[in-house]
Amino acid sequence: MPITQTREIAAATRLENVRYAIRDLACYADEVARQGHKILPLNIGDPINFDFQTPPHLIEAVYKAMRDGKNGYAPSPGIKEALDAIRGEADRKRIASVRDVFVTSGVSETVDLCLTALLNPGDDLLTPSPDYPLYSAVLAKMGLKLNTYDLNEDDGWQPELSDIRRKITPRTRGIVLINPNNPTGSVSTRKMLENIADLARQHNLVIFADEIYDKLILDDDMCVSIAAVAPDVPVVTFGGLSKNYLAPGWRIGWGIVSGEATAVKQYNEGIQKLLRARLCANHPEQYAIKAALEGPQDHLIEVRKKLRNRRDLTLRWANSTPRVSCVPPRGAFYAFPRIDIPEGDDVFVRELILQKHVMVVHGSGFGQKPGTKHFRIVFLPNEPTLTRAYAAIAELLQERYR
Ligand code: PLP
Repeated sequence: MPITQTREIAAATRLENVRYAIRDLACYADEVARQGHKILPLNIGDPINFDFQTPPHLIEAVYKAMRDGKNGYAPSPGIKEALDAIRGEADRKRIASVRDVFVTSGVSETVDLCLTALLNPGDDLLTPSPDYPLYSAVLAKMGLKLNTYDLNEDDGWQPELSDIRRKITPRTRGIVLINPNNPTGSVSTRKMLENIADLARQHNLVIFADEIYDKLILDDDMCVSIAAVAPDVPVVTFGGLSKNYLAPGWRIGWGIVSGEATAVKQYNEGIQKLLRARLCANHPEQYAIKAALEGPQDHLIEVRKKLRNRRDLTLRWANSTPRVSCVPPRGAFYAFPRIDIPEGDDVFVRELILQKHVMVVHGSGFGQKPGTKHFRIVFLPNEPTLTRAYAAIAELLQERYR
């Protein structure tokens, strides 16, 4: 047999635009770790890396399911008791016109599946800038161009309505609204939600309401669901166990389809088809959904208290540090401070890892408005750790830019 030469197998060209800075940065961190330094990870929104634990009654529910032999495939849309619990949650969120609910392997899968079920080649989807980079990664994977709308930093990072209006094209099929927001920590006002719903109504758009942080509200206000404000508009509301219920490793998310029945019927059938094609979400972990949504919610009191203190510490630091300013986050566990520096925020973030062993994510990794510079902090660590990290960031700013 002739010896064939080994050939390089090229990855699909579509992947050139797939970026996920939150994890891509880990390459630099590995380099520093190899030199024997410990990296402080303020890049990934994983509460389990810090002093938060999955509530024990959720663990018990999954353990029991495994012991009871719930280890085969589950029904494609999800197990009945989880679907019932999600419908109950939709009720509590005042979503009146629920047409369907389904369970996925994390909200990451909900996003992939719902975008794939909607968009044709040449279509576009409005995504926020800055955004959570999964959305742009999925669009790139599908070979679709980005069409972003601005979040306005001068207006507490609320969506800029005039920009949304300007960006709607004849091929725009939907809009993504992340509320509470990653990476800015903003929470949308009811008035804003009503205005966005009006635009969706006028232009026949599907709204993707990513509300994965809806129970992590840090001030007195509430997270209003856009699906509750606009029962007639087609909305898929995303939720899951990763953040509110401190179980990101279980990979459990869900979608709630609402809106006028005839409007969402075909699209929902598309979603169901894709759910069947990928068999099912993680089976035993689905038993934690009812336990989470209907069981004790005590952990949330403690989580919000810790996050509030850590948010306040972050703001005190940002307000007293030269070259830094920050819109106060009101939900989730992220701050997105602006930095006034002469070089790119990606350069600063790389140097921060290399020199100070602190890992945050550069604003350009979230597709921020060109010309602006930010970084995203995950304020999940305890106060002494955050204080150390912030001192290191201030030191680098001082050393590099005087
Ligand atoms: N949506 C937003 C806004 C997120 O911040 C995240 C994770 O950080 C996800 C979706 C993905 O969540 P999951 O762990 O459920 O896949």
